Amino acid sequence: MKAEHYVGGVFRSDGPAFPLVAPADGTEMGAVPEATREVVDDAVTAAQAALVGPWGATGVEERAATLRRIADGIQARFEEFVDAEVADTGKPRELASTVDIPRAIGNFRAYAELLYGRPERAYTTQIPGWSAGAGQALNYTVRRPLGVVAVISPWNLPLLLLTWKVAPALAAGNAVVAKPSEETPLTATLLAQVIDQAGLPSGAFNLVHGHGAGAAGEFLTGHPGVDAIAFTGESATGAAIMRNAADHVTPVSFELGGKNPALVFADADLDAAVDGTVRSSFTHSGQICLCTERVYVERPVFEEFVARLAERARALDGYGPMISAEHRDKVLSYYRLAREEGAEVVAGGGVPSFGDARDGGFYVEPTVLTGLPETARTVREEIFGPVCHVAPFDTEDEALRLANDSPYGLASTVWTRDLSRAHRVAPRVQTGIVWVNCWNLRDLRTPFGGVKASGIGREGGEYSLDFFSEPVNVCIQI
Ligand code: NAD
Repeated sequence: MKAEHYVGGVFRSDGPAFPLVAPADGTEMGAVPEATREVVDDAVTAAQAALVGPWGATGVEERAATLRRIADGIQARFEEFVDAEVADTGKPRELASTVDIPRAIGNFRAYAELLYGRPERAYTTQIPGWSAGAGQALNYTVRRPLGVVAVISPWNLPLLLLTWKVAPALAAGNAVVAKPSEETPLTATLLAQVIDQAGLPSGAFNLVHGHGAGAAGEFLTGHPGVDAIAFTGESATGAAIMRNAADHVTPVSFELGGKNPALVFADADLDAAVDGTVRSSFTHSGQICLCTERVYVERPVFEEFVARLAERARALDGYGPMISAEHRDKVLSYYRLAREEGAEVVAGGGVPSFGDARDGGFYVEPTVLTGLPETARTVREEIFGPVCHVAPFDTEDEALRLANDSPYGLASTVWTRDLSRAHRVAPRVQTGIVWVNCWNLRDLRTPFGGVKASGIGREGGEYSLDFFSEPVNVCIQI
């Protein structure tokens, strides 16, 4: 399959092309069209037209039905979506078929249900009664879509994170111009095909491909016709988008980077904590924003935990590559830096050799480090690879101080069998999500997002519908 733009209900491939490289073996899979400023302009114009056209007049029930048809459309082409996701990212097929594609379907279903089940989100809340100085009045609130929403998504969970924004944006009645990562254009193109078939009015969903800085991403986020920006990616990119959006005071919803801590207390079920940390540090080769890169372990179980984690890391196989040669080089540069900073490399630390086509791909070894000071760049900066640093602590307060001493605050994991400790510690960890004795257990209705440099705002359930709509007060004097 080939990547195409989808603008105003029409597929097109204009703009200069750039190569699409398979992370699994380094081969060239095809070409991706780079959206020029004109393509982006056309997409925004098509979205604006949809809002004053049939899409703008579509009621809640019809919107919910359309979202369900999109979910059904992805389901019907499930294997094609899995193939495209695996080709784009190199991730294990099992991961794509149990997480990425089912969650994309779930995103459309969840917002169809939320919309239909809670119509007051889309309609009105009424406050009969008194208004100061004016006697009796009836106040009600109308939720209005924001207008044209730009959705910019990253390469690590390409379809999951794209649909996590597109579904609520459409549910709330907006028109969307989406730009997926230049590294992973294929599932987004399939989604456009499904949406086209699902009968969404032309222009309600548009897709443009291309790069970020100085290219399609920047043209889109700085566009005067864009009414809101929903972005997932690096914190530095978030800052650049904010600067670009400032001229038009465009509202933003940001899901950004992390340097996520795990706290392992001596009273934890150590089997579960080791298992959980293998998952939280090494799933998708560490390329999930929620992955653990800092592990703090209470001293009495520190040695045993490190030994067991390292043994498991060494035994991992069947893992996927880094997304690109450039990202592999970045991760390897941190492996080198860790050694320069004085780390002990307890497991991994290099490039694996498979003796097959994968040797042309962008793989790095799952890696466990110890012995670094908290000031080390390896401990402070997001690496976004299969690597964690493990350090000991002696008291609960110290564990919290270490966990919270970070510019980031996305997700954390607490491992303990002490119920009181769990409740005491969880609210004090400065992250948007705190998992206790689990990791990445997600209910799509819960607030999702980060504090500090990890983001602005919350997504999930009604939080997304709130971002993607504007409450308008209507006041009638009686
Ligand atoms: P990235 O910031 O490099 O790119 C993300 C998207 O932004 C891409 O589509 C890219 O083309 C676009 N972009 C880049 N520069 C731009 C600019 N100046 N203007 C407009 N658009 C621009 O991120 P990535 O490397 O694709 O993804 C990895 C990062 O994403 C990590 O930092 C990770 O933690 C973060 N992430 C966060 C979450 C979360 O929910 N908080 C989820 C997944 C990934």
